[in-house]
Amino acid sequence: MGIEGVNQRIADIQSRMIAMQTQQAATTATRSATSNASGASFASQLQSAVASTQGTAAAEKTYKLNGKGVPEELVAYGNGKIPDDALTKVGETGHKLWAPAAENLNRMIEDAKREGVKIGITDSYRPFEEQVDLARRKGLYSQGGLAAKPGTSEHGWGMATDLDLNAKALNWMRTHAKDYGFTENVPRESWHWAFRPKTA
Ligand SMILES: [Zn+2]
Repeated sequence: MGIEGVNQRIADIQSRMIAMQTQQAATTATRSATSNASGASFASQLQSAVASTQGTAAAEKTYKLNGKGVPEELVAYGNGKIPDDALTKVGETGHKLWAPAAENLNRMIEDAKREGVKIGITDSYRPFEEQVDLARRKGLYSQGGLAAKPGTSEHGWGMATDLDLNAKALNWMRTHAKDYGFTENVPRESWHWAFRPKTA
């Protein structure tokens, strides 16, 4: 999304705020006896409208992707060679992902938490050397193991995370993860969730 998109987004928020204020004024005029209650509800309405618009903005950002769905900016760095300043921390954990993936994951973890669902994280960005080490320890998929060929892992793009999910959390993920751009995409690995950025 370019600067026009951002400006458009701001204009949308402003017009929604004005619409709600107008609506609020009308409501207050017709229900003067409940002004305290409706004032509080206006504040929370406004808060949730702004929050959801911001959330949507992050989820709807688009990227130029290569044929395998990898953003060109990451392809330029190389799998497992993503520089630290292109990565963002997941909450207070030591885990990092490509910044847009981390931002969406952080938002998802917070939203789940508010609904009483705990999403833990066990793995994230995996530098090339760690992919080599993992393949040595766990074997390649192509040979019945659990590791991708080094240089091809979604973890090497900072676009996949391995999560610690109980049954309730897995169920929540299967319903809501798509709203944050995450998908369960490896058979028999219900812990592995990949971020799928939208293409321009
Ligand atoms: Zn994984």
